[in-house]
Amino acid sequence: MTVVLPGGVNRSDLKLSDGRTISYYDSLEVNRSATDKRNDESQPGIGHLRLDPLVNEWVAVASHRQHRVFLPPKELCPLCASSGDKLTEIPDKDYEVVVFGNRSPALTTPGVSWKLPQVTGIDTPNADAAGACEVVCYTSDHNSSFAKLPVKQIRTVLEAWKDRDAALSKLPFIEYVFPFENRGEEVGVTLSHPHGQIYAYSFVPPRVEKMLQAADSHLKKTGRVLLDDVIKREIKDEKRIICENQEWIAYVPYAARYPFEIHIAPKRSVARMSDLDEGQSENFASVAKEVLTRLDGVFGIEMAYIAAWYQAPVNLGSDSMRLHWQIVSVRRQPGKLKYLSGSESAMGAFIMDLEPEQSAQQLRAVKL
Ligand SMILES: [Zn+2]
Repeated sequence: MTVVLPGGVNRSDLKLSDGRTISYYDSLEVNRSATDKRNDESQPGIGHLRLDPLVNEWVAVASHRQHRVFLPPKELCPLCASSGDKLTEIPDKDYEVVVFGNRSPALTTPGVSWKLPQVTGIDTPNADAAGACEVVCYTSDHNSSFAKLPVKQIRTVLEAWKDRDAALSKLPFIEYVFPFENRGEEVGVTLSHPHGQIYAYSFVPPRVEKMLQAADSHLKKTGRVLLDDVIKREIKDEKRIICENQEWIAYVPYAARYPFEIHIAPKRSVARMSDLDEGQSENFASVAKEVLTRLDGVFGIEMAYIAAWYQAPVNLGSDSMRLHWQIVSVRRQPGKLKYLSGSESAMGAFIMDLEPEQSAQQLRAVKL
């Protein structure tokens, strides 16, 4: 089955041998029919959610994930396309962008009667770890990176994110959809092939809940959307802006927590990824590419980063929360990482030893 998405992106859905769906996203019409030749009918286990009553936050316990593949050599990479006897997660011999379910997901489809227990402190019951974990391969080129993708291919990745956001949001047990990328061994990447992930949670994650409270209270007090006002301040202050085009703006936030932290937001704000219109979708790639190229250019090395999409939860905050992309790098200097230590890890109180204006200056100074 092929579905045509905005931007002329074609989606073809096929099944892997263990029942997972793989979706190919192509900017051209390609016949995708390669079958998965692996003999694998193993089903992933399901973990469980436990409530930490000290802060009323859910913790997903997924002990079945301990045996997953850790940094395999390139010839054993499960995210490269299949070729000859080498059978990978992607049955076809080439691809542009693919999305499929994680082989050992921390969160997965629960039974039909699943419900998140009500939080009642120390007596809150456990629940199956409902949700979804998906892998998004950005390119079949093992040695590429998001920053090196052609503009057209970044559009294909964006359409894949939008498409998955729309589909996952429709599942009855999903409350929040989170596309993200961990890049670099420094931030725990277990596969070096250029890829990101999508976690869809059956609860609103703690940081999003906090952002939602701030956004709701700003809306109530002023009648305005918080992120719109944040962007207004960045435009007025100017000095933390990294780059912009007619639809998107990238800046180091006023109170950045990491030595290199960049936020990228659409100027006409939207609540959700799947709300991005044609103009916004078409103009995303150039800003995304410039920002990530500048990040790698600061020290002339591939920067480890976490790139996280924030958006309104599925059932809350569509009037107050706004979509934006936060990229944080733990690298302070070549050879020096920022470790989250006592103040950050235990207290959640960040100490920054670089002024955000100074890091913006360094990013702008990178010659492209
Ligand atoms: Zn690979």
